[in-house]
Amino acid sequence: MTQNAYPPLRLWIAGEWIDRGDRDDQAVINPATGVELGRLPHAGADDLDRALAAAAEAFKRWSTTSPVARSTVLRRTAALIREDRETLAGLISLELGKPLAEARGETETAAEMFEWAAEEGRRAYGRIIPERTPGYRMMAIPEPVGPVAAISGWNAPAITPSRKIAGALAAGCSIIIKPSEGTPATALFLARALETAGLPAGVLSMVFGNPAAIADQLLRSPVIRMVTFTGSTVVGKQLAALATQSMKRMVFELGGHAPALVFPDVDVDAVAKAAVATKFRNSGQVCTSPTRFYVHESIHDRFVETFTRLAGELRLGDPLDAATGMGPVQNARRLDALEALVEDARAHGASVATGGQRRHGDGFFFPPTVLTNVGPQCRVANEEPFGPMAMITPFASIDEAIEQANRLPLGLASYLFSHDLRVVDRCSREIQCGNVIINHWKVSFPETPFGGVEDSGIGLEGGVEGLQAFQQLKFVSQAAQ
Ligand code: NAD
Repeated sequence: MTQNAYPPLRLWIAGEWIDRGDRDDQAVINPATGVELGRLPHAGADDLDRALAAAAEAFKRWSTTSPVARSTVLRRTAALIREDRETLAGLISLELGKPLAEARGETETAAEMFEWAAEEGRRAYGRIIPERTPGYRMMAIPEPVGPVAAISGWNAPAITPSRKIAGALAAGCSIIIKPSEGTPATALFLARALETAGLPAGVLSMVFGNPAAIADQLLRSPVIRMVTFTGSTVVGKQLAALATQSMKRMVFELGGHAPALVFPDVDVDAVAKAAVATKFRNSGQVCTSPTRFYVHESIHDRFVETFTRLAGELRLGDPLDAATGMGPVQNARRLDALEALVEDARAHGASVATGGQRRHGDGFFFPPTVLTNVGPQCRVANEEPFGPMAMITPFASIDEAIEQANRLPLGLASYLFSHDLRVVDRCSREIQCGNVIINHWKVSFPETPFGGVEDSGIGLEGGVEGLQAFQQLKFVSQAAQ
């Protein structure tokens, strides 16, 4: 895909594709060049009112459509994503800066999200509860929770909207989604695929604009019964406060600052090599990206040496070039944030083993960065860097490693490398987070539950739980006469 093939950007409301007209708009920027890709129209209050009315109306029909028919639409969507995966991958690379091979992987995961939801929606079983008195029946029956408002970020621009849309639709909910303004064409591709697959008008609306104003209008509306949000902890907490006022169901997938604990019985070079591949995937802009490496003191120096060398060898460049190891970060704000974290760490005595400064010139490039001697007073030790930045710290004992892992109120993912069963067992019990990954790096699959604890969020996506999140269990009790 070239810059020229970037599609016109629209809103998708109540079954209509809406051009800019006299609406406000904003530029969408190619992070690899800094050049404008297109102009994105902003939804106004009237647009949102129409989306809300359509969601309320469509909910009546979609919630009573048979799960088998809903499943057919979701399966077709998965097939359409696969058929045109090169276009979708190209859009992801252009808007996000993710290397094409990684973007292709994302298209497949997005398709799998729709497939999983298509299957799971057909298995939305309830429960018959043994009655206390003969002649009675007691049942717990799952029902779709109602129209959903979804807000998602830019770092997994196909996967995150797919997961939310597929789960909501499989459960029988209508949904209004506001994906990130940074990656709109990727999201609009999904809306188009759903339309082509036969999704009735109004069941899905996709809007962009002023995020706070859109969230305010959707979350205050009595039409919306659930909010599902993926993004930063700061914004998540603001939205949770708003959603609570009208007691909406909430799923919040928020920030992380994942610890990776490396114990001395592992193949140090092999773990360091795989760690580099994971850490700098998507330029480190992954909520589960390992950021805080705690390495046993007996292997620490070797680990730092291998990790730093391999990180420094990663080739930074055009995400559409097959030789590129790492693309740009998604926006200029990330460059400023990353540089500020390095400056602060240096001021507090940390060392920069590699990287540390933006690459000047076109695009938003920040090299793989490794920090050592990072004390707890450094901002980066406490704030998610959300970029190509890792810090490596030695530990002496398992107690210290677990204490460090649990030091922050964030608890999304953690990684553990050891073949000692006692170490593995203790760490996996005592580390407080939603996902503990042992001796590998893959956190999330369509069929597995995914979520964080504490400031990393509320509720789960994926797995059986990803469907249940969009359902309300109704208790029905019936006497024979
Ligand atoms: P962000 O919170 O800035 O934006 C996320 C979404 O919220 C976007 O659609 C944005 O337009 C919208 N938004 C921004 N300000 C808003 C406001 N005041 N009111 C309403 N909506 C608003 O986050 P981001 O920069 O897009 O993403 C980075 C963060 O997301 C990181 O913290 C990362 O860890 C987290 N994240 C979490 C998960 C997860 O599953 N736990 C997945 C991906 C990203």
